[in-house]
Amino acid sequence: MLKIKFLFIAMLAAVLVGCSGNGQSTAALDELEDSAAIDITYCRAHWWMRPDTMFIKGAVTTYFKSADSKIRSIDFDLVRHLQVDSVVSHNRQLVFSHSGDSLTVTLPDALAQGVTDSVVVYYHGELKSTGLGSIGTNREEHTIWTLSAPYGARDWWPCRQNLLDKIDSMDINVTCPIEYKVAANGVIISDVADENEHTTHFSVRHPLNYYTIGVAVGNYLTKEGQSVLSTSDTVPLVHYYWPSNSLSVRGLMTYLNIVMNIFSDYFTPYPFADEKYGQASIGGDISMEHQTMSFLTDADNLALMAHELAHQWFGNHVTCKGWSSIWINEGFATFSELLFLERVSSIFVEDWHDYTISNALQAKGTVYVTDTTSHDTIFDEATTYRRGAMVLVMLRNEIGEPAFQQGCRMILERFGNGFATIEDARQCFEQAADTSLVDFFNLWIYGGGYPQFTVDFDNSQIGKTIIDIQQSAVKTKDSDSDFFPMHLTVRLVGKNARKDVRLHLTSPQQQFVVESDFKVNNVIFDPNKNILGTWQRKKDNKRN
Ligand SMILES: [Zn+2]
Repeated sequence: MLKIKFLFIAMLAAVLVGCSGNGQSTAALDELEDSAAIDITYCRAHWWMRPDTMFIKGAVTTYFKSADSKIRSIDFDLVRHLQVDSVVSHNRQLVFSHSGDSLTVTLPDALAQGVTDSVVVYYHGELKSTGLGSIGTNREEHTIWTLSAPYGARDWWPCRQNLLDKIDSMDINVTCPIEYKVAANGVIISDVADENEHTTHFSVRHPLNYYTIGVAVGNYLTKEGQSVLSTSDTVPLVHYYWPSNSLSVRGLMTYLNIVMNIFSDYFTPYPFADEKYGQASIGGDISMEHQTMSFLTDADNLALMAHELAHQWFGNHVTCKGWSSIWINEGFATFSELLFLERVSSIFVEDWHDYTISNALQAKGTVYVTDTTSHDTIFDEATTYRRGAMVLVMLRNEIGEPAFQQGCRMILERFGNGFATIEDARQCFEQAADTSLVDFFNLWIYGGGYPQFTVDFDNSQIGKTIIDIQQSAVKTKDSDSDFFPMHLTVRLVGKNARKDVRLHLTSPQQQFVVESDFKVNNVIFDPNKNILGTWQRKKDNKRN
């Protein structure tokens, strides 16, 4: 998910085309408060939606089993103003109660552990948007869409808002007026029309989260392509766009192919290659990475598209295990913007660092989210996205690129199709780097604040430069650290020479003597902007 902010877009589009030649505040919790751990094995949904009305009608079949004990009922999340018409199982009407945004269905017989059963919920009503905009409409472009993260799925369908259990597979059917197209997860199996309406059937055969199920119905045209990976796998690509925005698709498939290959090579091959990767325009100001079908505010924003595509690895293939660990989704997706820029256009890398650092310095909280009841806290730009991304930049700086990349791959391989906590990720990076990262994570993920450097150098002796580094901490809360140990790169710059030296900062005040075979005219501290902090020169108080 991303709000539009980082703008260097049109220029970058030109670069790429040229080089290629062608939540509501809520008491909802991460974990359902069910008496038993219920495993959803399959869903079959049929929704009737249209862009000119907020009315929805639905029939959702859920297959489930109890993972640990006998159960007598199953709970769903569904807003109270949507009317449940009936709940049916094996041709029998079941007893249910629907209050407080919770639908409890009483099973006719107790269901033993491990035995699968199913219920169908028939419902209808007026859609009302909450949170980050769980239901969006664009009247001008005749489009309606859903955006469920973090707690908005219950605004439009009976689901289980649970970050402990993915739906193993799903069939999605959407019926809408004949003149509109439907964008949704998975692969289109059929599209059956009568005189006025048509029903599009999507098949999803990878596990997916309740909040990454998305449907958009609109006045769309589609452009299709494919991406060929270095593994020789092909990924079908599709982009849904409005006729008014047809210029935006120029060069788009080429671009998507480039980014798809960057992430597939760096992380692991695209996890949903046997389904697709799609994008649909929705307007507004929030984009969302529905599994295999991102909804985009702006199809010209290449960094945004890279961000949402990266979520297919971090967010969809591996999902945060509870919103406290949202870093698994947003920290990695935001960092992936940099991975993309480093490989296609180095001129924008410094812009990314400047933007990200200046925002991350505004963070008030910790990357580990302590209050998961508010979508504003979970998806805080400065903390979750920008500080979260800089933590990964600094982690890469500490353990080196090979171990960092291996750690990313380990997370995907170990927790793909499931969930990972921040601690799970830490252990992967520790194993890859063969070192403890407890202190690093305590400082940067579970703690706030940042270092404030006051630096100086003496270059009066040829061949020997004396470097002074003082560090004080800017705190955002009482428990933040007084000192941030780290490895810092400094660059000695001469007339026709330069030398990078890696210093180990182990105390708040240190002096280093660095030798060089040239006369040093200047010293640049952290030349690649890998550190979240502020810098000033001691003597003249100028920013370095
Ligand atoms: Zn995101």
